[in-house]
Amino acid sequence: GPVLALSGVTKSYGSHPAVCGVDLAVSPGEVVTVIGPSGCGKSTLLRLAAGLERPDSGEVRVGGRVVAGSTWVPPERRRVGMVFQDHALFPHLDVAHNIAFGLDELPRSQRAGRIAEVLELVGLGHLGQRHPHELSGGEQQRVALARALAPRPTVVLLDEPFSSLDANLRTQVRTQTLAALRETGSAAMVVTHDQTEALSMGDRLAVLKDGVVRQVGTPSEVYESP
Ligand code: ADP
Ligand code: ADP
Repeated sequence: GPVLALSGVTKSYGSHPAVCGVDLAVSPGEVVTVIGPSGCGKSTLLRLAAGLERPDSGEVRVGGRVVAGSTWVPPERRRVGMVFQDHALFPHLDVAHNIAFGLDELPRSQRAGRIAEVLELVGLGHLGQRHPHELSGGEQQRVALARALAPRPTVVLLDEPFSSLDANLRTQVRTQTLAALRETGSAAMVVTHDQTEALSMGDRLAVLKDGVVRQVGTPSEVYESP
């Protein structure tokens, strides 16, 4: 079954629904991009999947388990990895300790190996002892991805992950990110307002408008349908 499933998920702020009756599923190993204009509810949808928001109605499942609906499972117990636009690394911790932060459930003896493995995965094997301010923007984003992948989450959620990067770097980090997801076989939901990004990363795209999923399909189904 799907690693992430949203069913009839609705969330309003005041009287205005930000997300309205959304059904969306992500299969194992699949990358689904959520695209749509600013304010259409993309970020809210991701936050509902992550557990940073509670739905007013509907259900969220991660790995088949209900995490919102008949029960509530908080973000840290959902087995989801998260990557945000502003990477949100801890400035006072070096890269290795930033990654170690999410590994408290892994036996201590395995942590260094796992950290080295994910740093290698994102091509930063030599930078474990640097602090975030000693890294470029692109390197910081790759550390954020390594940190999200390190606990081997059921699904990775990325919210405008490359928006803070300039155009050249954005393409490069996007390619590296997709390669890392593929290499680990990780399923992901990627929120973006960038059509090129959505097309190049997504096995499937969900087009969101005014909180409603208008279209779901492969890039060619979505953009070549009459
Ligand atoms: P997107 O990510 O597509 O730009 P958002 O999910 O951020 O869209 O926002 C969807 C709608 O919900 C917008 O109308 C936005 O103003 C509103 N919204 C989002 N978060 C909040 C909040 N915490 N309080 C009130 N309104 C919000
Ligand atoms: P503490 O600061 O609590 O003593 P450690 O110094 O052991 O913790 O570091 C936390 C984790 O990060 C440990 O598993 C450690 O082996 C690992 N670690 C520290 N530095 C590196 C590095 N440069 N590369 C890979 N793993 C590292």
